Amino acid sequence: MSDDIYSHDDARAVYRVIKDLKLFEGQYFILPEGLAIDANKAEDRPLLDDNNELRVSDSEKTRHNQDGISDFLEIDAFREKICGCLNCELGNTRRNFVFGSGCHDADIMFVGEAPGEEEDRTGEPFVGPAGELLNKIIQAMHLSRNDVYVCNILKCRPPNNRDPRNAEIENCEPYLVRQIELIRPRVICALGRFAAQTLLRSNESMGRLRLATHSYKGIPVVATYHPAALLRNPQWKRPTWEDMKKVRRLCDGVEL
Ligand code: SF4
Repeated sequence: MSDDIYSHDDARAVYRVIKDLKLFEGQYFILPEGLAIDANKAEDRPLLDDNNELRVSDSEKTRHNQDGISDFLEIDAFREKICGCLNCELGNTRRNFVFGSGCHDADIMFVGEAPGEEEDRTGEPFVGPAGELLNKIIQAMHLSRNDVYVCNILKCRPPNNRDPRNAEIENCEPYLVRQIELIRPRVICALGRFAAQTLLRSNESMGRLRLATHSYKGIPVVATYHPAALLRNPQWKRPTWEDMKKVRRLCDGVEL
């Protein structure tokens, strides 16, 4: 790296340091003097704008995106591009395409299995009783739904909530792969056996998968029970909470 050019990854790393400082020291923290000077080393291109948001130059946009738009914007464009997908039979039976929701720069990405009835009706992931439980879990992690990103392996509901079929997963997974590339989370939390087995290319049971921390393209993956399963099996709530503490620890070192 030359002295006067910052890569997009460098900028994101600095942005995350600042974000962490704000998280732990409050929004009125004082930027350390050295970091302030360093961050603005390229005098005509400060890393943060007047709203303290990451500034991305035109050259960075084109360097990291052939279409010339930033990752933050591209996820919306990507959604528009695929929302009419009919690559598997579920496209013919869905009421709504359920892409995902949350922070486009999230550090934690929750990945579930597939939309259920309520998600199919609203077009939003993790709504209804299971979604409400997930919200409570996220709140217990001292976070909110707006701090994380939530999506599923499949973007369309399997009829009667039947298990996803291999062909459906194969057709839909590339969309998830692209979402992960765009969000670039620090930690992925796989909710439920299908999500975990798909991401980890494993046939192991959830009971075994959740005992280890895995990796997906270099991103730590924690597997845990799906909130819908927790509603049916409340005895799994305690181990799930241990998994969530691990997610938070891997994300930013916070011990819950
Ligand atoms: S489930 Fe995925 S692959 Fe199948 S139609 Fe929906 S978006 Fe397309």
